[in-house]
Amino acid sequence: MKKIAILGSTGSIGTSTLAVAEQFPDRFKVVAIAGGNNRELLESQIRRFRPSLAAIADAKAAESLRKKCNDMKVRIVSGVEGMIEVATAEAADITVSAIVGTAGLVPTIAAIQAGKDIALANKEVLVTAGELVMAESRRWNVRLFPVDSEHSAIFQCLHSGQRGDVKRLILTASGGPFRNHSKDDLTKVRLAEALKHPNWSMGRKITIDSATLMNKGLEVIEAHWLFGMAPEQIKVLVHPQSIVHSLVEYRDGSVVAQLGMPDMKGPIAYALSYPERLPDVSPSLDLASIATLTFQEPDRDLFPCLGYAYDALKAGGSMPAVLSAANEVAVRYFLEEKIGFLDVPRVLKLAMEAHAPVSFKTVDEVLKADLWARREAEKIIADRGLRIAY
Ligand code: NAD
Ligand code: MG
Repeated sequence: MKKIAILGSTGSIGTSTLAVAEQFPDRFKVVAIAGGNNRELLESQIRRFRPSLAAIADAKAAESLRKKCNDMKVRIVSGVEGMIEVATAEAADITVSAIVGTAGLVPTIAAIQAGKDIALANKEVLVTAGELVMAESRRWNVRLFPVDSEHSAIFQCLHSGQRGDVKRLILTASGGPFRNHSKDDLTKVRLAEALKHPNWSMGRKITIDSATLMNKGLEVIEAHWLFGMAPEQIKVLVHPQSIVHSLVEYRDGSVVAQLGMPDMKGPIAYALSYPERLPDVSPSLDLASIATLTFQEPDRDLFPCLGYAYDALKAGGSMPAVLSAANEVAVRYFLEEKIGFLDVPRVLKLAMEAHAPVSFKTVDEVLKADLWARREAEKIIADRGLRIAY
């Protein structure tokens, strides 16, 4: 029986993780869960999965959750300390890191330092502090299993050969809902359209990141840290059907791909059960009915966020953290319908231009750069008078 702690249990990845645990009750036991502020969902998850520990972000919400759950044997904690308790829960063998954004960094590092294997969905953790996270994982002899579908695919494809024989990684991208838009069309994009991802149902932030291609940019940086590849060895291809989840090209010219229906339960289950494969996790792939798989180069002029991620990776040090934090702010403003779709890349570019990268030795230094970038992004939005204009 593998015991699981879940950070972000009320989110898209969190609920899919619980669905996997529910499908295989003889294999997985959920021992600790943490959610942001959805008290009702957290309570129903506690009733259903009976973890001994649960965390909620807000202390007041924790109080009312405690009252609601007083008929069960569960300890309710709150705040960052609470997230850390869940991440490091003594009973857990593996911690699923599925909080969105930098908020997941401190608990994820705590889990690593407590010797927990990590099923990593939260890509911002690696984008923001990749060098530190990888160094801590080595130091505590912890394994990071990718949950992001592209990285799970690469992880699987890498089993076909030796690391030294890998020529490059090819990450696929759906291209998002605006793949065929013109620049003029993009100026008129509304929030509701940006939230309609063609193939995946995900949290709001990553859905917007997919529409701007920032998500793929963040994934390039994630792949760099997970697989130790140089930026020039990581290529992105738009593949609108989202069936080929990613590919590895070996030096002999052979290319190994991983395919499957777009369903996050696949990569989640693989991260939890590796090296074993569990039965009937995702629907079977019927290639004859899909019939056509297409690939094209991403349009980097129309979607500059992808290029910014390569620029940040090459600049190194704190630059990817600044890109990621400024993006969190810009996406929040876009989600609140305060700035337009094309303002998002604008904010990122200006924040990066205003930053001189430094190298990180501690998590506190990472958090300092993160805070600087958030303030800078807010300032850019205010100073430039960025606001939505349809
Ligand atoms: P989501 O918004 O659906 O869920 C986020 C979770 O984090 C929720 O449980 C929320 O309550 C919690 N949370 C948010 N802020 C918090 C805070 N300050 N403190 C504590 N908890 C907080 O997001 P998601 O789509 O599940 O994505 C989670 C992560 O996984 C992201 O980093 C995303 O990039 C990554 N990811 C998601 C998918 C997907 O299919 N959804 C695929 C690949 C990677
Ligand atoms: Mg992905």
